[in-house]
Amino acid sequence: METDADGVVQTSAEALTFARDLGTRSGEPVQAVVVDEVTDAVRAQLGEQGVAVAHHPVDERLTSYAAAAWSAAVVDVVESSAATVVLASGTPRGNEVLAHVAARLDVAMAANVVQVDTPKPLVATRQVVGGSAQEEMRLDDRVAVLSVAGHACDPVAAATPVETEVQTYAPKLSDRDLVAKVARVEAKAKSDTGALTSARVVVGAGRGAGSADGFGDLIELSELLHGALGVSRVVTSLGWRPHHEQVGQTGSRIAPDVYIACGISGAIQHWAGCQSAKTILAVNTDAEAPMVTKAHYAVIGDLHEIVPAINEELRKRKG
Ligand code: FAD
Repeated sequence: METDADGVVQTSAEALTFARDLGTRSGEPVQAVVVDEVTDAVRAQLGEQGVAVAHHPVDERLTSYAAAAWSAAVVDVVESSAATVVLASGTPRGNEVLAHVAARLDVAMAANVVQVDTPKPLVATRQVVGGSAQEEMRLDDRVAVLSVAGHACDPVAAATPVETEVQTYAPKLSDRDLVAKVARVEAKAKSDTGALTSARVVVGAGRGAGSADGFGDLIELSELLHGALGVSRVVTSLGWRPHHEQVGQTGSRIAPDVYIACGISGAIQHWAGCQSAKTILAVNTDAEAPMVTKAHYAVIGDLHEIVPAINEELRKRKG
């Protein structure tokens, strides 16, 4: 489980809903491992999701994220319980921790799962090739390990909330588990417009932005819509924006409610990362650009005229 100052993060809440659905069908209760502090907010959210027990490892060496140490803490719970499925959200951390968990348990792992058809034996459908294809994977080891793709489901509260019991335990950690750990955390720069993969609105920007100085209106639009900025690989390769903002096969896969792709041609490698958006609006000078032909809506024109006009209208409506 990943948490932040506000409690359970959105992607982990999705994974909990996914787990509850699976547990309902297989007849197993949902338990959580929370390495960070189990605050009242976290406990309440777990209760809403129907989590009966939250396992909280207590060790002074667990003060910062360390994939091997977190996985050791998860494996302790798996081995002391009757759990047959271990899952986490398919974030970089979720996938990294689960890869360690699977290696320690000597079982297979399915990453980026969107659906589980049969809980026993477990057959999972997962996204591959940057999300442009799906494959079925049969997990019939004694423990199935899988990560849930972002937005595979919406987080939904359980019909009957429960009172989550918090159980602390001393995880079996070795010093080797702490060799690779987070040493420093820096605050995001103001222009980092939020968590790209969990944003409900993403404003995309491509080569059409023109230069490193051409993103001001696009960032403003993402802020007005409480969204995030996502960019094409050309933009990151040219050094106009940082790599963590890249959408696509070699960037982040996103599935927002709305993706506003401005000055992006829609190459297949970019499309692989944004095709799961529920609604796509393209802004492009070229009416034949693949992004325009695939989008639900398109505005043909210069983004440097269209985006400021949208911003002005939004500002007016917000008063
Ligand atoms: P372009 O293809 O140059 O398109 C620019 C678009 O902007 C055009 O459609 C043009 O009509 C429009 N335009 C220009 N000026 C304006 C304006 N003023 N107003 C409005 N529209 C304008 N790409 C990714 O994005 N993500 C990836 O993860 C990724 N992974 C890759 C992996 C591999 C192995 C390879 C080979 C390539 C990968 N690429 C990836 C690169 C991809 O193939 C494209 O080159 C890239 O997506 C193109 O970026 P772009 O759309 O910004 O630029």
